[in-house]
Amino acid sequence: MTNTISRAVHEKTEDLIGLRRHLHAMPETAFQETATAELIAERMNALGLPTETAIGKTGVVAVLEGARPGPTLMIRADIDGLPVDEETGLEFASTNGAMHACGHDGHTSILITAAEILVGMKDQLAGKVMFLFQPAEEIISGAKAMIEDGVLDRYKPDRTIGLHIMNILPVGKISTNRGPVMSGGIRFSIAIEGPGGHAGWPNRTVDPVVIDSQIILALQTVVSRETSPMSSGVLTVGSFISDSTAGNVISKKVELQGTVRAFDPEQLDEMYAAIQRLAIGVGEAGRATITVTKQHRARPTVNNADVAEWFAGIAEQIVGEGAAEVEAMTGSEDMSEFLNRIPGAFFFVGGETEGTEFHHSTGFDFDEKSLPIGVELFVRATADYLS
Ligand SMILES: [Zn+2]
Ligand SMILES: [Zn+2]
Repeated sequence: MTNTISRAVHEKTEDLIGLRRHLHAMPETAFQETATAELIAERMNALGLPTETAIGKTGVVAVLEGARPGPTLMIRADIDGLPVDEETGLEFASTNGAMHACGHDGHTSILITAAEILVGMKDQLAGKVMFLFQPAEEIISGAKAMIEDGVLDRYKPDRTIGLHIMNILPVGKISTNRGPVMSGGIRFSIAIEGPGGHAGWPNRTVDPVVIDSQIILALQTVVSRETSPMSSGVLTVGSFISDSTAGNVISKKVELQGTVRAFDPEQLDEMYAAIQRLAIGVGEAGRATITVTKQHRARPTVNNADVAEWFAGIAEQIVGEGAAEVEAMTGSEDMSEFLNRIPGAFFFVGGETEGTEFHHSTGFDFDEKSLPIGVELFVRATADYLS
């Protein structure tokens, strides 16, 4: 059967690449993926699969029932793009102001193609495959939205797998961990308000730019002074926006946005509490009004050790050396929401290619040779689990 699978994947590769390019040219950002969801539903309906749409706003689930009874495997792909202006110069580059700058176009096309192949193998399957297309991964909200909409209660998957193309991992490499894969994170914003005014009379104002700068420096101690040297964490303030655009006007309000990440959920909450304490303390000392807001929280992505071990064996059939353990990453993924509820594994598929930038950059791209590898992983894993 393994050769049959390889052949089926090979035959589909041209279509697969075409589908990825088609999706790449029509990116939609978090919870706006209506055209993408429509395309997915059409493809699933064309396969004759019962398909449910609008789960967690724009999520889609299709189910393939095997010839015999057995467990349910959920395969998840994320479908959203980013609010990034593409600068790759690719023939199929997006021109709509959004961009598939993380490879989710690849994930979506991989899962659609895997479904197409698995439909043809229906007679060999004992159990069900649940193809789950998740929106809004980039804002760590889509998985939760689908779960709140009851997707797991309705379909009751026994095991889950999902992948991410990684453009700093060489093609042919697959990696997965028997434990933590990615950190958890909390996105926060801090608004600092004070009556602004004339730049020449700062004493008649409360200057939020100066206070905000002090808060940013104070936050540098959250990792360096408040976190155990034996555990890791990272805090970044990525955005600092003042409502004054003039050099001679002291702004009324400054808002900064940042993210804090750690592998231990408890430590993550402690770090966020430290952010609140420092921001409010420094802000009040400077007479400003401070509002700290938790925008969203992602739990760490942790694989089930047994499922990861099983999956590494599947990977070995495809790329020889199997799935290596890698250093856990400080990116966040809401596959974590599913992994927290269902035993499963999340893994990376190498898609390194020269002359491109990292994920989330305007010049991001990946090697399309990673696509058929992803399909084969999903198909073989399914054939094995539902044998
Ligand atoms: Zn991303
Ligand atoms: Zn991503």
